[in-house]
Amino acid sequence: MNKKCYAIIGGGINGLAVARQLLLDYPDISVTVFEKEAAVAKHQSSHNSGVVHAGLYYEPGGLKARLCRRGVELVKNYCAENAIPYDECGKVVVALNEEELPRLEAIYNKALANQVPGVCLIGPDKLREIEPNCIGIRALHSPHTAIVSYGQIACRIALEIDERGGTIQLNSPVYRLIEQGNQVLVELESGETYAHSFDYVIACSGLQSDRLARQSGDKATPRIVPFFGQYYVIDEAFKMHVKGLIYPVPDPRFPFLGVHFTKRIDGQMTIGPNAFISLGRENYDGSGISLRDIAEFMAYPGFWKFALRNVSATIREMKTVLSESVFIREAAKYVPSLANVGVVPAVRGIRAQAMESDGSLVDDFVITQQGNITHIRNAPSPGATSSMAIAEYIVREVMSKP
Ligand SMILES: Cc1cc2nc3c(=O)[nH]c(=O)nc-3n(C[C@H](O)[C@H](O)[C@H](O)COP(=O)(O)OP(=O)(O)OC[C@H]3O[C@@H](n4cnc5c(N)ncnc54)[C@H](O)[C@@H]3O)c2cc1C
Repeated sequence: MNKKCYAIIGGGINGLAVARQLLLDYPDISVTVFEKEAAVAKHQSSHNSGVVHAGLYYEPGGLKARLCRRGVELVKNYCAENAIPYDECGKVVVALNEEELPRLEAIYNKALANQVPGVCLIGPDKLREIEPNCIGIRALHSPHTAIVSYGQIACRIALEIDERGGTIQLNSPVYRLIEQGNQVLVELESGETYAHSFDYVIACSGLQSDRLARQSGDKATPRIVPFFGQYYVIDEAFKMHVKGLIYPVPDPRFPFLGVHFTKRIDGQMTIGPNAFISLGRENYDGSGISLRDIAEFMAYPGFWKFALRNVSATIREMKTVLSESVFIREAAKYVPSLANVGVVPAVRGIRAQAMESDGSLVDDFVITQQGNITHIRNAPSPGATSSMAIAEYIVREVMSKP
């Protein structure tokens, strides 16, 4: 009998996790990962906050809620089995005023519905025991929220794929997937078609996922609209002012979480990320402006509807983009002793955020099928936490549907 052949497009943490899961569940198949860069995990998977989210915010019953909880378990075990650092530093979501209390309570109720272990609401005294320099009138404490390096996890998974007989083709940008009967051809950007066809393809191409889907004949929407997130690393001498992760209560008028303190697994303490439209899907240092990317979002009616609906959010975020001191001031509302802290900018992350044509941001993970092709169309945060659970879901549920 011929071996079944599977292709994965994209060597970020999701594509790699899917390749690994296929090799675990079906050791006799052939698996090829196509990655356009010279190494794996060069995009979102190595430009994020490194938080293993516990599942606080997500709509109970949705894919994010379910796959995040399962993902935590899988990531934690994977780190333990592979000697990858994993620090359960804990997280507090802090209310600064009475107005935020009902929203804090709503997050607490979602966390309970999502069966997040150990979460509790605490007052200012307990908050000071956990984070001695943090102020707030009430907080939600999630003791098992953790930090890791997703880049490191992705590189370990890549090695495991190799050990299990899979192939990772680097420097191989895929232009489109062509359905031919019950086979799929992979056409590279060079114009060549890959040497053999595949029985199944799973496209996990992050910031390029809508383009690859569209070029392969799938729906054009939702479209990826890139939002960058800037981080600042705080001065070594001040990093002990924060012990773990300090987050604001999300404001429903703003589509992203708001600037927060994030401890890193390498010991650094960062402030960020903010969220602002990126002038290029891969424009990490601000110099990689892409006219094609700008033209695409400018021509997308959804973008303008989103922009009109979010004027106050845009102004708030723009202030943090234009002024380092406004950025720090936002965070210092929670830790006043850091109001004048020195910072250095760190590399941005760019979110592959799907947007509908009515201007709404797609909240849940979106995984769709087009014949024998499976597309991940939306996997924003907690996409890295959930990666191994997304892989299980794709291999054991989505692809096994008759
Ligand atoms: C600022 C920021 C902070 C975040 N913080 C967190 C967090 O704390 N916790 C969390 O769980 N999640 C977080 N996330 C989300 C998380 O990083 C992503 O959900 C996750 O990394 C997505 O992985 P991926 O493999 O789908 O995408 P990516 O990592 O972007 O990988 C996609 C890969 O596909 C390749 N590719 C694209 N197009 C092609 C093509 N045509 N041919 C071949 N290869 C192609 C790319 O080169 C890339 O390697 C954050 C994201 C950002 C941006």
